Amino acid sequence: MEKLTVFKRAFSDLFRIGKTYYVLFFIQSLARYSLPFIGYIYMTQIVDALTRNDMTRIPSLIVQYLGILLVLQLISGWIDPLVTHEDSLFLKTLFAEPNKKMLTMHYHHAESSEVREELDIINRNMMSSQSSLPMINVRIKEMMPGLVSITWGLILLSPLFSVNTNLFPEGFWWMHPGVIISLFLILIVISVRIQISSSKKSGELLKALLAELKESNARFFYEDGILQDFKSGKEMRLYDLTEKMIENKKAESNYTGKLLSENYKRFRAMMIPTTGLFQVMTYLTYAYIGVLVLIGALPVALIIQLSSALSQMVSALPDVIQHGMMLISSPGELEQYYAFMDLPDEEVVGSLPVEKRLDNDYNFAVKNMSFSYPGSDETVLKNITERFEVGKKYAIVGENGSGKTTFIKLLTRLYEPSEGTIKMNRIDAHKYDLREYFNLFGVVFQDYHLVGFSLGQNVSVKPYFDREKVLSTLDKVGLGDVVRNFPNQEDTYLGTEFEESGISVSGGQEQKLAIARSLYKDSPVMILDEPTAALDPLTEFEIYQNFDNLVKDKTAFYISHRLSSSKFCDEILVFDKGEIVQRGTHKELVDQEGKYRELWNAQAQYYQ
Ligand code: ADP
Repeated sequence: MEKLTVFKRAFSDLFRIGKTYYVLFFIQSLARYSLPFIGYIYMTQIVDALTRNDMTRIPSLIVQYLGILLVLQLISGWIDPLVTHEDSLFLKTLFAEPNKKMLTMHYHHAESSEVREELDIINRNMMSSQSSLPMINVRIKEMMPGLVSITWGLILLSPLFSVNTNLFPEGFWWMHPGVIISLFLILIVISVRIQISSSKKSGELLKALLAELKESNARFFYEDGILQDFKSGKEMRLYDLTEKMIENKKAESNYTGKLLSENYKRFRAMMIPTTGLFQVMTYLTYAYIGVLVLIGALPVALIIQLSSALSQMVSALPDVIQHGMMLISSPGELEQYYAFMDLPDEEVVGSLPVEKRLDNDYNFAVKNMSFSYPGSDETVLKNITERFEVGKKYAIVGENGSGKTTFIKLLTRLYEPSEGTIKMNRIDAHKYDLREYFNLFGVVFQDYHLVGFSLGQNVSVKPYFDREKVLSTLDKVGLGDVVRNFPNQEDTYLGTEFEESGISVSGGQEQKLAIARSLYKDSPVMILDEPTAALDPLTEFEIYQNFDNLVKDKTAFYISHRLSSSKFCDEILVFDKGEIVQRGTHKELVDQEGKYRELWNAQAQYYQ
């Protein structure tokens, strides 16, 4: 992407997300930074009245001035808290953008470790880079007072155009304000151009500097993560790592701070010629205004307005230019941000509504389905053709890496088959509305995620929930009485992130909670992917015993590498290197030669 296009997009994104904030901030800046200029205007008017001996005008001028002052101050007082509030809201939304994108992008991107690494880098850049959206926002904020001053300066300098040029002595045509202002504009343009070219060099330096800081930054945030992560607390204490970590972090941040402040000094040093040039221009302009007044081409009183406007403008200019420079000399991290934000979203293919059936009669048929992960040559699933009957319990077994989880990802439409089809009730699954299709499944993945909210909220995945239903679901997984005995029952918090009285539960209980969550959803199809991995043998047995009761008349898929669990299912599908090599009941399969018996015998020795 062209740099200019990237900037345009960044600005339009900022204004889209922070529209209210920017409008309020603009009004606030206008009210705040206009004050001195209003003062100059009225002072000029008052001095003008004094020089003309027109005393009657003075009281009304003073009243007007005080009136405007009061209004501006009232506006500031009213708007300040609004701006603070909108600012924090705006920043929160801004920082959440890449994480939100992670949830909408196509699942195969979200699952890729490179994309997740990129998200980490982008999130870090959001906080530390010169060219992230929050940093551009900072530049806009810092440029605003200067921009208001320059605008006012130009307005207040406008009387220069009304000088009486007939009073200029013979041969002094060049004293015409048009000529002088054009000359100044040319000087400003030249100095800005010089500035831009030297800032390009400095941009390169900044890029090199940031590359140097990348590793140190990454380490800083990584260590920060460890320090913040409660789970690492045990090791940190036992191995006495805390002090060392804090020392490291201090060293990293000193190092980063030093390099950045050196860079900032370099920027300031680059501004010296421009600032010097502006100073010289200011003195020349004072002299010019003085001469105009002396020859009578301008009223004396205007000296105040013109010279104050000029000095304010000239002191604001270098600042605006400097922030502008820092903005455009920023390295290419915005490109990286937008490459991430432009990753394709989950395609909204399919619009067919899923029929609501009380009898749960949803059947699935897979035909000649093959699959490779995007960007990989390995065929993970090979030519699978199977039918699944409503209400049956299927065990999916096979060695690690044989394709069991991938099969579930395809069945639930997290991925599309590379070849072949999946049909639901005889219609291609991809014709259904994706959200409605997702609702057909209650899934517990191996890497399920519970959050630091209340147990009821974890089970229902809603802020407000049906208490009876939560407790009866917890009963099903054998946690009902445990939760009833907690002081706050289903309102008890998981972990202490948000609530001091929060509890921590065992790995097995967590897994049961995750199962309860999928049951609460009450979807027609239940999928449990290695649900018992963290459970002790007794709890595992309890869940199997209860399995029929848990899933009732739902269709269920039960992935496990512990074959003892498959005995509880109606049918077993045996995966081997991406193929389904056997299908049948436990009894049928142990009685025949094949993969299942091989796996069963291998595991049976552990159970004896
Ligand atoms: P199982 O569930 O039987 O252990 P998986 O379905 O998880 O097996 O994995 C099957 C194969 O696909 C493995 O070779 C694994 O490395 C590969 N695989 C799994 N997930 C991804 C992914 N997101 N990208 C690329 N390859 C993957």
